[in-house]
Amino acid sequence: MEKIVIAIDGFSGCGKSTTARAVSHLLNYIYIDTGAMYRAVTLYFLQHYINLTNPKQVEKALQEIEIEFARGEDRQEGQIFLNGIDVSSRIRDMEVSEKVSEVSALAPVREKMVALQRKIGKKKGVVMDGRDIGTVVFPNAELKVFMTAALEIRAARRQAELLDRGQLVDLADILTNLQKRDHLDTTREIGPLKQAEDAHLIDTTHLTFAEQVEEILNLATSAMVGTDHQQKTILGLKE
Ligand code: C5P
Repeated sequence: MEKIVIAIDGFSGCGKSTTARAVSHLLNYIYIDTGAMYRAVTLYFLQHYINLTNPKQVEKALQEIEIEFARGEDRQEGQIFLNGIDVSSRIRDMEVSEKVSEVSALAPVREKMVALQRKIGKKKGVVMDGRDIGTVVFPNAELKVFMTAALEIRAARRQAELLDRGQLVDLADILTNLQKRDHLDTTREIGPLKQAEDAHLIDTTHLTFAEQVEEILNLATSAMVGTDHQQKTILGLKE
């Protein structure tokens, strides 16, 4: 079957990454967590005390940043490297979560990340999750999904995730952070978080993880069949 691009956008803590990763495994596709890319840039900015209101500093920092995902066998395990260093765990810290939406609202940051994401997804066979994948990065993606869930549920999921990594963070702090990021992400000028017109809406508030994966897989199968049919029609082949 033809390989397609699966774009998954939505709010933080809806289960985008875990669901997208599982879907990519089942389809044998590449998984790209674009939030991790923005987080890695943010970590670099924090480590180097970059002043976000100083365009020259931002530009110079961006030139020094190289982001890579693990290759080969490990490719889908979510490892991300910032200038050769594995920062997969570090980028999940609250310190990064607190700053990431401000950093990702900057035009040069988005330009660099979007270009990189398009390059990675060029050959298709990719599941990419983020905020602007179906609207800006791949507006022609064969399948677009927009995920949402009740704020309290999202906060509880984030807290469990952090706890899994040995960090106990107050639920109230997580709630505040999610609200702040939702606001910044949906109101920024460039690439704001919004549902693409042709995206399928999935509310995960009452869905189990398995149900979320199944729903997206079903949509993906229909999209692939549709793409195959289109290809055959264009080539004049019979079904
Ligand atoms: O997905 P995650 O919650 O890790 O994303 C962290 C932040 O990165 C988001 O709150 C958003 O500010 C930014 N982001 C973005 N565009 C994307 C993915 C993430 O602006 N495509």
